[in-house]
Amino acid sequence: MAQILKILLASSEVYPYAKTGGLADIAGSLPKALKQLGHDVRVIMPKHKCVAQCPLGIRPMGLDVDIPIGGTRKKGFLYSSHLNGGIPIYFVGNETYYSRDPIYGTRHGDYPDNAERFIFFCRSVLEVCKSVGFHPDIIHCNDWQTGLIPVYLKTVYADDKWFQNTRTIFSVHNLGYQGNFPSSELKTAGLPFSIFTPEGVEFYNHFSFLKSALVFADLLTTVSPTYAKEIQTKAFGFKMDGILRQRSKELFGILNGVDYQEWDPAFDPCIEKNYTPESISGKFACKRKLADLFSLKVDDAMPIFSMVTRLSSQKGIDLVIDILGDILGEGTAFVLLGSGDSIYEDYFLKLSKKFPDRIGVHIGFDEKLAHQILAGTDFLLMPSQYEPCGLTQMYSLKYGAIPIVRSVGGLADSIKEFNLKTLRGTGVKFKKFAPDNLHRTVQKAVSVYRKKNQWQRLTLNNMNANFGWDRAAKKYCQLYRRVLIK
Ligand code: ADP
Repeated sequence: MAQILKILLASSEVYPYAKTGGLADIAGSLPKALKQLGHDVRVIMPKHKCVAQCPLGIRPMGLDVDIPIGGTRKKGFLYSSHLNGGIPIYFVGNETYYSRDPIYGTRHGDYPDNAERFIFFCRSVLEVCKSVGFHPDIIHCNDWQTGLIPVYLKTVYADDKWFQNTRTIFSVHNLGYQGNFPSSELKTAGLPFSIFTPEGVEFYNHFSFLKSALVFADLLTTVSPTYAKEIQTKAFGFKMDGILRQRSKELFGILNGVDYQEWDPAFDPCIEKNYTPESISGKFACKRKLADLFSLKVDDAMPIFSMVTRLSSQKGIDLVIDILGDILGEGTAFVLLGSGDSIYEDYFLKLSKKFPDRIGVHIGFDEKLAHQILAGTDFLLMPSQYEPCGLTQMYSLKYGAIPIVRSVGGLADSIKEFNLKTLRGTGVKFKKFAPDNLHRTVQKAVSVYRKKNQWQRLTLNNMNANFGWDRAAKKYCQLYRRVLIK
């Protein structure tokens, strides 16, 4: 039997304890798949304010960690719980740093002490290993908030026997979020100034937590094969493409999986009526419910387009705004659940007041409503400028909604163009980031929707597509093993 690996996955958000996007879904579901492969996997995250509200509950462990921060020391109090599937999860508690809602910042911007908050978290992750007596083979770090863990292991903890056999993997979930701070934060972190060089943690005169990880982690991954290639180019590299090209041989793209225990209309407790590919009538009940929820005046034949998204320019919101008038004029309705840039929030709220019968908008983060929308909608729009993986389009497949996506990153990897002759494929795609291209793609989607045989085949293809975690978890294990023998 293959060696059982001891894996610690560190993330600043983990579903169902805290979630702002896809990272939380992955951090909550990959560990379950790794455990099913027989590994000893544990998870660690900060004890954000919302953690206490999670129905899974948490309990104090009676342990603490004492972390040097700048010239002083700060304490972290440890809590624990179990993710569904029995995976231990540790929470680092510190009222001053983490008892906040939202978790990264407010409408007016990021919290000014984010560097210190995540320096504290990164160092705590290592101290927690000692406190709970865990010698990880692998620390799997995710996004900039965990970016200093690999740096600590190769500097401050380089001679620490506890971590002698520990290796790090760093996963990039979105290169656009980098955690760049003034160089003075090196002092807060207790890291030597000698690493503040272009070959080290310096990024255009800033101390970058993301770049730190890209340089110091033993191996790098990102969340789809196409994104792994894209981020090595100037167009998608957010100025990190140079270092990514240098580490090209140690950078792997693994498409995220879907947790079908959470996202399956056959069992989903959030939706009006459950349905399966064999018995799809429940979807029509879900569509009526969706129309009711937003007081839309749509009949069964009128297609509903939806978005469930962070409202950020990355998601191609501007293209949607450009064509929305036209597609509504062509006899459709539109539903949006999102939060983010206030310009977009205000715009869509205003628009929904102007066209209340056809446009439904909910600004905020609402997990149940996200499920209800996917179950009730006919189409999901994701015309992203860039998309590392994207999960919502894969969820939409399972719920029998047709994804309309731009062919980038994980959208290109997960959605196959529907072929009108062979009736194979799972969605419709366009390449050039331009309103006309999106509009034509929407028109193709509507024409498929209106031809019963095509629509039925496409819906069946979608609902039967399988993006379960099994395949991806095995790939991660291969990489964990590879890095251990390095
Ligand atoms: P990203 O991580 O870039 O935000 P993904 O498509 O990978 O995009 O993942 C988004 C996740 O967040 C999905 O689970 C989606 O349902 C969820 N989500 C996004 N916005 C909202 C919202 N306003 N309310 C509820 N869930 C949301």
